[in-house]
This record gives sequence, structure tokens and C-alpha cells, in this order.
Amino acid sequence: MNNTKLNLSNKSGKLVGIIGPMFSGKTSELLRRIKRSNIARKNWILFKPIIDQRYSKMDVVSHDLITAEAKVIKKSNEVYIYIGNNIKHIDDVFFDELQFFDSEIIPIIQEILFNGINITYAALQATSEGKPFPFIDNQKHIGDLLALPHEEIINLKAVCTRCGNDNAVFTFYTAGEKNEIIKVGGSETYTALCRTCFNELMNKKK
Ligand SMILES: [Zn+2]
Repeated sequence: MNNTKLNLSNKSGKLVGIIGPMFSGKTSELLRRIKRSNIARKNWILFKPIIDQRYSKMDVVSHDLITAEAKVIKKSNEVYIYIGNNIKHIDDVFFDELQFFDSEIIPIIQEILFNGINITYAALQATSEGKPFPFIDNQKHIGDLLALPHEEIINLKAVCTRCGNDNAVFTFYTAGEKNEIIKVGGSETYTALCRTCFNELMNKKK
């Protein structure tokens, strides 16, 4: 990072990742942790990318409809607008749908941690082709973030909608041909599958 905007302090925060396919409860887990931060009277801030306009523009809403107010941002460096002057008063920073930010989010996350602030994010690990999810500027992908040392990575699984096994680790695109890598959708276009079912259906697509 060439333009450091935040002051370094001598404490450092914890990095927690919540990853998994769609429908694995990532946002619910994120909101559960925000709730706990609230109970502990911590100062927290939640960011979500503008690309995700499911349900609500301002709130992060899990599929089970628990909400928290989010700062909706277009570019990763807009994070500084919200936390720049408040840096000493913030305890926890949360990100939802982190895969929809641009690659600059990686150095920004490192810098926030160095300022003693905890970070918890929810992110899709893989595209519906089973590849590492690219950040929107295509410079880095989610694997570059996962390669950073974490205090905790929570790897959630969904229920396979084809065979019912409780070990779905893939998101599968169900609406025929998919031409762009990033295509925002919900249960009308995506489903969760276990490895066996994903492989069988991908072979049928070929
Ligand atoms: Zn299955």
C-alpha cells in the first residue's frame, strides 16, 4: 500500500473469515457475531458492496431475515471515509459478500488489523464453476485473502439440494448458460451441491 491513511497503533486485531457456498448461512453467522458485538457494547461498522442489491440497499439481511445496518460502498477505499476519523473508537469491522469488493480490500484489511480492530468477513470461496472467486477488478481472488494468517476461518457447508447430504461445498448455476463469471442471484439461479452431485451435473453440462 503506497498511501497509508490510518495511524498505526501497538495493538492488533483478529481476522476471522466465514466462508462457504451460497445457502450455507454465512450472512446469518456474520449477523450473529454483530449481535454479540452489540451486546458487548462494542463499536462496530458493517460494509457491504453495492453490487449486492438483494432484499435491501442499506441493510444486510440474512436468508432468515435478521438485519443490520450496513454502509454500502462501491470501491474498497471508501472504507477509509467511514473509519478514518473514528479509527480509535471502532472495535469491530464486518464485511458481507467480501468477494464483490475490489482487490484493494486485502491491504486495507491488513491495515485495519494493524490498528487493533477486529475484522470478520463473510465471503463466497468459489464461483459456480468451482474456481476461486475473483475480486471485481480481476487483479486478485479470494484465495489471496485466505492465504493471509487468520485467527479463525469458519468453513460452512450447505445441504445438497440434490441428494440431501449435509456437506454441500459447491454453488451450482441452475439457469442454463452462464456467460459472465459474476452473476448476482438467489435461489432462482443458484443451488448448493455436494462434491459428488456437482461433478455429475458439471459432466452433464459438457
Ligand atoms: Zn449431493
